[in-house]
Amino acid sequence: MPVSTNPDVMDKLVSLCKRRGFIFQSSEIYGGTGSVWDYGPLGVELKKNLKDRWWHAMVRARDDIEGIDAAILMHPRVWEASGHVAGFTDPLIDCKNCKKRFRADDPKIKGTPGTPDAQCPVCGMKGTLSEPRNFNLMFKTFMGPVEESASVVYLRPETAQGIFVNFLNVQQSTRQKVPFGIAQIGKAFRNEITPGNFIFRTREFEQMEMQFFVEPGTDAEHFDYWKEQRMEWHRSLGLNPDRLRFKPHDQLAHYARAAADIEFDFGGSLGFQEIEGIHNRSDFDLGRHQEYSGKKLEYFDQPNNRRFVPFVIETSVGADRTALALLVNAYREEEVAGESEGRTVLGLHPSLAPIKAGVFPLVKKDGMPEMAQRLAADLRRRFPVFLDDSGAIGRRYRRQDEVGTPFCVTVDGQSTQDGTVTVRDRDTLQQERVASPFVADYIAERITT
Ligand code: ATP
Repeated sequence: MPVSTNPDVMDKLVSLCKRRGFIFQSSEIYGGTGSVWDYGPLGVELKKNLKDRWWHAMVRARDDIEGIDAAILMHPRVWEASGHVAGFTDPLIDCKNCKKRFRADDPKIKGTPGTPDAQCPVCGMKGTLSEPRNFNLMFKTFMGPVEESASVVYLRPETAQGIFVNFLNVQQSTRQKVPFGIAQIGKAFRNEITPGNFIFRTREFEQMEMQFFVEPGTDAEHFDYWKEQRMEWHRSLGLNPDRLRFKPHDQLAHYARAAADIEFDFGGSLGFQEIEGIHNRSDFDLGRHQEYSGKKLEYFDQPNNRRFVPFVIETSVGADRTALALLVNAYREEEVAGESEGRTVLGLHPSLAPIKAGVFPLVKKDGMPEMAQRLAADLRRRFPVFLDDSGAIGRRYRRQDEVGTPFCVTVDGQSTQDGTVTVRDRDTLQQERVASPFVADYIAERITT
């Protein structure tokens, strides 16, 4: 079991996320739905900020990647071509301890799965292997009014296929030249047999995937490039570099030329786990879609007057799993000098924090509430703000610290005299007096970097 030296904060986070409106269990009033979660007012902002950062880095800031938003429902043949129909109907065995899944005929399994003597080939635990069962990871449904086999469709188990089938549409409409990429963010569904650990492994989740189409022979260098780029992106979110690492795959899928995961240390018994996969998928995907659709999916290299099926370098990251990494990474409990009560802080990167500023009138009189309201309205035109006029000022600070708000602005007695307010930094606890017309710029500058 990958026990980490970082503390296990999962239970505390689950409770904070519910109490403060980040994440709720789906259909909670009916007893909940297994491993499906809803994002509340603060959670939706956090995840949206995360997705915006990915979209910016992968699409808007580059001239060689185009964005798309493909539909969740696709032609059922897509999943035959991709290998998902065949690949997920074999008898599978599951390790309840390390959550790895094996084919029933895996020669590395010792003993009879489902009995206490059977041993997991990955974590080495005995008695944790389930009996083999036929299992298809994809959710099935029916298109049209008749529930028959001819009308079966699937909820997509990954967003990638929507990119592959649109390869030529995008290339021809944008006149991009290889190498170039296509990116999308969207929901994916997997009927996981071992979901769990809050939003780490769920049955409905969001992926942020990018497929980079390259000339065969140049794939290795593009793979290395994307590995580094993606690691750098995770660091730019404020994830502690010591908690991030690459993990090369020991066993490659038959079509894959290289694969590496980016892992984050979630602490406790979960330890290092994949948050993103980077794969060199060769020409497998476009080749298969060519075969199954009967349509050519070739790129015409005009200067060299030749056609080829591009190789694909894929970067695939979960929005929910990364959001969990951000929460785990940000959570801390600490003493505050000169105060008896400690505080809980979500040290989120300011650009990811759901609320950018708390605005507090020190007391509810002498024009302070009115000035605070005017200031909050002014700031709200630029970023999300929370106006709080109830309770002692220390408690109001604590409430914002706990949800990661990077700045708290207090309107006090001096403010109504000279128009200045105090701006308190969540991490350093330093307070600075700033003239109120400049507060929006002061904060905006500090939340974008
Ligand atoms: P795992 O084995 O950890 O379930 P995977 O190897 O099947 O993941 P990929 O198919 O490579 O994952 O998907 C890419 C990314 O999508 C993962 O790194 C993860 O961030 C996210 N992801 C995959 N499955 C889930 C899930 N069930 N719940 C949440 N996120 C997921």
